[in-house]
Amino acid sequence: MNKINFQTINSQNKFNPNKVDFYSLKNKNKICDLDISTFNTYEAKYTTLQRTTLVEFLKDKLPNNLIQYNKKVNKVSSQNEIIDLTFEGNSSAECDFLIISDGVFSSTKSLIANKDIKPKYFKSLAIRATIDQKNLKHINNSNISLFLGSNFHSVIYPVNKGNEFNFIGILRKNLSENEIKNSSLFKDENFISSILLDLSHQIDQNILNNLKNIKCFPIFTSEEIYHPKQKNIFLIGDAFFALPPTFAQGASQAIEVAFELYKNFQNGSNEFTNTRIKRTKIINKKSKLNHFAFHLSNPFMVFTRDLLMKYLVKNKKFINSYLGKVYKN
Ligand SMILES: Cc1cc2nc3c(=O)[nH]c(=O)nc-3n(C[C@H](O)[C@H](O)[C@H](O)COP(=O)(O)OP(=O)(O)OC[C@H]3O[C@@H](n4cnc5c(N)ncnc54)[C@H](O)[C@@H]3O)c2cc1C
Repeated sequence: MNKINFQTINSQNKFNPNKVDFYSLKNKNKICDLDISTFNTYEAKYTTLQRTTLVEFLKDKLPNNLIQYNKKVNKVSSQNEIIDLTFEGNSSAECDFLIISDGVFSSTKSLIANKDIKPKYFKSLAIRATIDQKNLKHINNSNISLFLGSNFHSVIYPVNKGNEFNFIGILRKNLSENEIKNSSLFKDENFISSILLDLSHQIDQNILNNLKNIKCFPIFTSEEIYHPKQKNIFLIGDAFFALPPTFAQGASQAIEVAFELYKNFQNGSNEFTNTRIKRTKIINKKSKLNHFAFHLSNPFMVFTRDLLMKYLVKNKKFINSYLGKVYKN
């Protein structure tokens, strides 16, 4: 990111947490902490920031008129290595390379595959909100706080040097097919209230009552990696593979892959390597393992997990292998 001047983002608008503090929601105590700063270098540090800050920074780097909004691709065809895009309203564009990055529900992926490719409901809901520092008690505000509950976990982390924190909650929840398809359900106040009521059995009331800008949405993940047949079409980000959010790696991987693709073009090679696929599979597995471990409810399993975590967070060999392989590419 520093290669595109990430270091120039106003330091007030980002934060460098040193540790992840793990708490038990049931026992209301701290389980252990993990020093993530060990992966930092002087120039590159684990950084948290508001999603909009990142998007604005990335958009700012592009020439003003490069992005065309409100365009919908209806057809993708290719002949002699030239790709033809037809948009809604019948306008069209020709290109040498097509990079598809339209997110987890990528309709362009379905177009090039000639079949409907749908992500799978991850049987979990995400609750996203912000909270002011003054409403956070008994946590270290310089760290990421991860609260482990029963079929639920939440993360609270600073997103700037002001007093703003993000709150992310992940709640295991079965939904019917109709509920999953009904996108207005997740904006419905009664539905959101019922979810918050559910959370109130585990989360501190003071936190719950002070959440702002609450958004609730179902989590979808990819089942498999789709390989475009055409050598000049690439998928990146969630369109390539949507990971579970429990390693906080989705956007990071999207950026990493974009840079990898740029390097490929620079070197004159335009192939996605098998290493990328292997890396995605590893992170997917680790994200799923985290999800499982963070949501345990059986008291014996929870006791064993907590004991194991206390040992593992201090075990350099394990940490280097579990996190280092992801953080230090
Ligand atoms: C609860 C939660 C927490 C997360 N936390 C983190 C985290 O801490 N760190 C991290 O790295 N990742 C995190 N992620 C993952 C991250 O949000 C995604 O992986 C990332 O946003 C993917 O980026 P993207 O550009 O591929 O897709 P998106 O961000 O979904 O962007 C796709 C864009 O394409 C546009 N679009 C869609 N269809 C079309 C179309 N047909 N034509 C034109 N445009 C279209 C959309 O409007 C959108 O702007 C989290 C995810 C969740 C659910």
